Amino acid sequence: MSAYNIVAGVSVTCPQCQAKVSVGVQFKFGATWQYRYVVGDLLRWGGNDVGTPGRARVVSDGAADSPCPACGYAGDWDFYVFIEHDRIVGVSEADGTYDFVRAGRTHLDLGDGSESSGSPRSR
Ligand SMILES: [Zn+2]
Repeated sequence: MSAYNIVAGVSVTCPQCQAKVSVGVQFKFGATWQYRYVVGDLLRWGGNDVGTPGRARVVSDGAADSPCPACGYAGDWDFYVFIEHDRIVGVSEADGTYDFVRAGRTHLDLGDGSESSGSPRSR
């Protein structure tokens, strides 16, 4: 349960001090072995795999891997990591849209058939 990957250098707004800061976001999808990715990278597979390779669109539960560099905030700081065809396409702050607790796992498959061409989700 301790293995995860990190999306590095995600620009976010601290929920406590509202500073614009850069943090790493932990998530579990693909081969999980503390790989460091950036948005746009292809995921690796082949060790401690979580999920299924090649899915059209997946959202993974994410969490900040360090306190806020500005104020030290270390409370709940959750994110969604969006993955399309094994590529990290974006990270956004969690807003309750997806319920991983209710799903009982750390990622949700958003389906193959509902791709809207040429409109990557980014905020
Ligand atoms: Zn802060």
